[in-house]
Amino acid sequence: MGKKKKKRYVVKAPVQFLAVIGIVVLLALGAVIWLLSCTCGATRVEPEAEATPSPSPTAAVTAVPTATPEPTWEEQRLASIEHYVRAYGNCPDEAAIQARMATMTIDPDRKMVAFTFDDGPRDDITDWILDVCEQYGVRATFFIKGDNIASHEEQLMRMLSLGCEIGNHTWMHTNVEELSASEMREEIGKVNDAIYDRFGYTIKLFRPPYIKYGDKGSDTRNTLIALMNEWDMAVINHTRSTHDTYDKYTADMIYQRGVQETDELGKGLDGSIILCHDKTKKTADAFARIVPELLSRGYQFVTVSELLHCSEDGFHAGWIYSSAK
Ligand SMILES: [Zn+2]
Repeated sequence: MGKKKKKRYVVKAPVQFLAVIGIVVLLALGAVIWLLSCTCGATRVEPEAEATPSPSPTAAVTAVPTATPEPTWEEQRLASIEHYVRAYGNCPDEAAIQARMATMTIDPDRKMVAFTFDDGPRDDITDWILDVCEQYGVRATFFIKGDNIASHEEQLMRMLSLGCEIGNHTWMHTNVEELSASEMREEIGKVNDAIYDRFGYTIKLFRPPYIKYGDKGSDTRNTLIALMNEWDMAVINHTRSTHDTYDKYTADMIYQRGVQETDELGKGLDGSIILCHDKTKKTADAFARIVPELLSRGYQFVTVSELLHCSEDGFHAGWIYSSAK
């Protein structure tokens, strides 16, 4: 019995042992498979699990385009010019528009000069000056009289389509020193309004007729500067006059003053604002010679606003400028 028992025991013991081992192995295998499946599952799920908190990076990425920076002055300038080139440029096709726009670039490191023409627009003379601008792809500034607007819309549209600047020279060419505060507001404001209403163009510059705008500290000066600040405009004097309104000045004398590198006051041409008038043929004749001459010397012909924005001082409402520094 004991043997049997023993034998039974001996026989029984390995069976039980093997069964236990088998269960343990199965359990172990199951555990390994479960662990592996958990691990693999975790690996697969992990990116998804991260995808839940990832809205913040996603939100950060989408937040960048919504915070679009304000267009720079240069971007606004080119967009405005292109608008008027397309509206009034009589360009036959897209290539012509792009060719016109290619002449509008400014190299801030090159010499610049701003030619200005007062008292217009006029038939013929303003057209001749604009012909020169178009021929050479250069720009100028026209300080216009308000009462010329209605009868010279064609010239004004052409100015804008050539990238030229329109400035304010009062409605009736009035000496602002003789005006009350309310009259000054009317005389200058009316020009701004007429140009904006007709062309959607905002005037930024005012040139006082006779270059009279009151002494420093006077009521006239204070009133004018307050208006300029209110309307985001600047007063534009000049660096050099071509004396083109003097009877004795011939086209050749105007030309000589226009191309003189240094004037009698020692002021250089680079960064200067040159005073002319689109009133007589001799001015247009002189300008037709001045432009190719100064281009050959490396000058760029820019508007007054362009000259000021490219200068160290920059453009500031309420300032009085006679040159760019
Ligand atoms: Zn004038």
